[in-house]
Amino acid sequence: MRVVVVGGGIGGLALGAGLRRRGFEVAVFDRDTDVAATGGYHITLDDRAQSALTDLVEPQIMRRLLASGSALRLRERDAFWDRRGRLLGHGPDLSGSGSVDVDRITLRLLLAEAVGDDLHLGCEVSGVGHDDHGTPQVLFTDRAPVPADLVVGADGAHSLVARRLAGGPTNSPAGIIGFSGRTLRRDLSIGEQDRLRPRSGMGIGPRGAALYVGFLDPVGNAALDAPELRMSVTTGPTYIWGAMFPESAATDSLRTLGAGELRAALLDMFRERRWAEHTLEVIARADPHSVAGFRFNAASTSAKDLAPWPAGRITALGDAVHATPPTAGMGAGAAIRDAASLLKHISDAADGTIPLTGAVDHFEAGMRQRGSEVLTLAMKTVRWILATDTTFGAAATAVSTPLLAAAARLRR
Ligand SMILES: Cc1cc2nc3c(=O)[nH]c(=O)nc-3n(C[C@H](O)[C@H](O)[C@H](O)COP(=O)(O)OP(=O)(O)OC[C@H]3O[C@@H](n4cnc5c(N)ncnc54)[C@H](O)[C@@H]3O)c2cc1C
Repeated sequence: MRVVVVGGGIGGLALGAGLRRRGFEVAVFDRDTDVAATGGYHITLDDRAQSALTDLVEPQIMRRLLASGSALRLRERDAFWDRRGRLLGHGPDLSGSGSVDVDRITLRLLLAEAVGDDLHLGCEVSGVGHDDHGTPQVLFTDRAPVPADLVVGADGAHSLVARRLAGGPTNSPAGIIGFSGRTLRRDLSIGEQDRLRPRSGMGIGPRGAALYVGFLDPVGNAALDAPELRMSVTTGPTYIWGAMFPESAATDSLRTLGAGELRAALLDMFRERRWAEHTLEVIARADPHSVAGFRFNAASTSAKDLAPWPAGRITALGDAVHATPPTAGMGAGAAIRDAASLLKHISDAADGTIPLTGAVDHFEAGMRQRGSEVLTLAMKTVRWILATDTTFGAAATAVSTPLLAAAARLRR
């Protein structure tokens, strides 16, 4: 059986790696010319995503991934702050967590290595369809169509494959614009190092401003102690932060700014909303070239709205179907789990246990549930942030946060 995958992001590469490992004929096409030219932020892989990856890649790739990952169990509990930097509360105890944070670049490089020469870079797909005999095919503007037994769209939130299957867009803007950047812990003042500590945190204030600060240390907190296998981009204690604001003409226009200008504009946005200067140090001391903006897109949280097409020999997975804002850190994990599930069902079809369209039907049913679950979690945070941008929400945030901070002080 020959499978053609459109898109070599996290989900497409994971599927390509699994298919190759099981001996299927596979080709993955991506328009990027360099797999390392991807977002500089980190990806959280929970137990389920790691278990799926174990089915998809060789044990040695998995070991190199874990040796490059930062274990959440070695981190302190997450903290929640107000805009003055006052502690409001903590997240759950992480000492039993199996989750790992890994640089997105490292994850993509390792998956690309697993796909090997079945990955074709610099190939922009212009469409998908069927030839005169009903065989699925992938179309390009600059080369001949490529036929397949099964075509899989893993082409992300703006997927042309899923759009063709659904007859329209599969997601819409979630109402938030995000900006991410990287700051070395040692570049912060001692005061801010003490406040932020080796843990992740989230600050939230009135008028829809939120600042997530994620802590990553693949060296000191390595998930697998095997330095000889390490290939993380992050080489010491680092905060990878995400600033979030409601989408408006003003926030949208920031995405066009250059490196240093964008960092300065973000600081102004928080200052206008009266955030304490010390809470902004993590942005002010970021590597300006690491700062980038992106719009959050979200599909429906309802399973029945996801993949709303009859099962056939063209399908899709990951963000193409269930575009998920990063607010739950689960979109990439869900794309990897989609890939493992599709591989299992394709293997059943190859064994002759089930027809291929039946296998795709089973896969899509599971993906709808998975997508709905992660979207529901991610949208909770999005709605919370947006609620602070209403008149009532802004007032409630301004009044409640000092009370929560006082209660947290008393608990300490
Ligand atoms: C700042 C940020 C932080 C995040 N943090 C996390 C996290 O901690 N944990 C987590 O699980 N998820 C996280 N996510 C979400 C995660 O990145 C996505 O959910 C995940 O990448 C989706 O994988 P995918 O394979 O479906 O799509 P993508 O990884 O977006 O890949 C799509 C690929 O398709 C290619 N492509 C698109 N169109 C074409 C075409 N026409 N022809 C050829 N190629 C094409 C693109 O070049 C791209 O490589 C985060 C996202 C952001 C923006």
